[in-house]
Amino acid sequence: PKLSTNSYDDNLMNAKMEIAETGSQKENATILMLVRNWELEEALGSMRSLEDRFDKHFAYDWTFLNDVPFSDEFIDATTAMASGKTQYALIPEEDWNRPSWINETLFEERLKVMEDKGVLYGGVKSYRNMCRFNSGYFFRQDILKGYDYYFRVEPGVEYFCDFPYDPFYIMRKYQKKYGFVITMYEYEDTIPTLWENIEMYLDENEQDIDMENNAHKFLTDSEIIGNQVNIIDSNTEYNLCHFWSNFEIGDLNFFRSDRYKRYFEFLDSKGGFYYERWGDAPVHTIAAALLLNRDEIIHFDEIGYKHDPFYTCPSAYYMKLKQRCVCDPHGEYSVDLNEISCLRKWWKNGSGKRFLKYE
Ligand code: GDP
Ligand code: MN
Repeated sequence: PKLSTNSYDDNLMNAKMEIAETGSQKENATILMLVRNWELEEALGSMRSLEDRFDKHFAYDWTFLNDVPFSDEFIDATTAMASGKTQYALIPEEDWNRPSWINETLFEERLKVMEDKGVLYGGVKSYRNMCRFNSGYFFRQDILKGYDYYFRVEPGVEYFCDFPYDPFYIMRKYQKKYGFVITMYEYEDTIPTLWENIEMYLDENEQDIDMENNAHKFLTDSEIIGNQVNIIDSNTEYNLCHFWSNFEIGDLNFFRSDRYKRYFEFLDSKGGFYYERWGDAPVHTIAAALLLNRDEIIHFDEIGYKHDPFYTCPSAYYMKLKQRCVCDPHGEYSVDLNEISCLRKWWKNGSGKRFLKYE
């Protein structure tokens, strides 16, 4: 029998047919993992899952990044697990380490305060480097130079369903620049001054922002008055919604753009990656919501995914069967309909278009 007749599933079917038309054409893309040697088993688990559910049909390159050299054991095992080519790069120290202009005394003080407060990773120095690297440096690595798209994968994650399409193909075909699966609230204690810095950034960078067509409404719950909106001098506040960046599929050319770099350099200069614990998730999210057209952001709602403790699982009955999903959409840690999820805000204020057709 025909699986469904509603337009939601028709879109999915159309996407599938488009893939059939193009065969298993490969995009100019890589799967990307920043990882430590001791996370090998978890890395292999993620690889096995993504290979099984998607990549075995395409054999995309896997790129591994690390701030110390990869061990032979790590290289051997991940190479054996991949259907495609694997490549490994050492991150240059200047792209990873704390910059010399960070005030060390203040930094140590703030680490202690956050640790005592019980903030997640509040006292961890390397976590700060990781978040800053993922915010401002991953896309500048030489090894990524030739690629247009990346699919970020972390150790220890799982994909619950067969992919119904090549997400890279969807990105290119529909001119998407940022793709996510889970969105939820950030811990406020990690970003106490991020939003006031964003407001300053907006003040100084009007040329880069199109308030009419971007997704800024997703970021704030306050009323915005007028149409030449300025969220700058109103009483707006960040609602803490962010795309969970441990899964992300993005257009590297967006991150390489001058406007993204201006945005990152502005934030970086404020020191919040170290004096606070700004995460790459809110930093990427706010960039996507302010700098992109909202229709350039895509929610991949057919992809089942888990990064502990939360997961997302398609709830459409026939879609789950068709994609051989192994997950319970009604479980305790199923995030989408839970109050910690921002997905409903995305449905309301984000892109209404799943696929944007440019004729
Ligand atoms: P969480 O998801 O926020 O709990 O943080 P994770 O510990 O999973 O770190 C996020 C990503 O960065 C994962 O892919 C980690 O493997 C990676 N990562 C975190 N810290 C480091 C580090 O010091 N060195 C390297 N090479 N990778 C790191
Ligand atoms: Mn993680």
